[in-house]
Amino acid sequence: MKLLVKNTHTVFEVLKEILKEGDKVVDATTGNGNDTLNLAQLVGSSGRVYAFDIQEQALQNAKEKLELEGLERRVQWILDSHANLSIYVKQKIKAMIMNLGYLPRGDESIITKSESSIECLREALGLLEENGVISVVGYVEHPGGAEEVREVEGFLAGLDSKVYQVVKISKPNQGKSPISYFIFS
Ligand code: SAH
Repeated sequence: MKLLVKNTHTVFEVLKEILKEGDKVVDATTGNGNDTLNLAQLVGSSGRVYAFDIQEQALQNAKEKLELEGLERRVQWILDSHANLSIYVKQKIKAMIMNLGYLPRGDESIITKSESSIECLREALGLLEENGVISVVGYVEHPGGAEEVREVEGFLAGLDSKVYQVVKISKPNQGKSPISYFIFS
């Protein structure tokens, strides 16, 4: 049961299989930095994590979290929308993770929006190496969440199945639980 208990755990079970020392990866929604920390550990000292957030406080919290582990130098902190991904990331990436919705224990009115989320996904797909992965965890409980998840899924459903495998994990017996998507290249 462990594998599917929490969506963000499932994401890292998958990433552990794919990421190697030296890989370049993106955290599109840094938030409190839990995922950023996991990514920095997986890519090792020669790897790079591009960490985006539009909230300065989020990046500050995340930076402190990584400093405690001595890993902050593996990360490039980017205070800008992930929709501008290709302005900052000029090399191929092995993975990107995107955790939609609002910052836990933060301002619940600052949420990801489908237009920028989809633009970020489009740009990340253009940079994704072969045998790479993008994960998206979507939340449907907060206002606007269900619409965003529906629009993001619509975009993913349109990807060429000869190039990408798109996998969706939902939990039909758990009410409004998060939904995870994986795009494998
Ligand atoms: N992965 C985080 C949770 C992320 S919550 C953790 O483990 O704690 C979603 C985050 O996305 C919030 O911090 C919010 O500020 C950020 N966000 C919202 N819109 C964004 C955008 N367009 N670009 C980058 N970050 C955005």
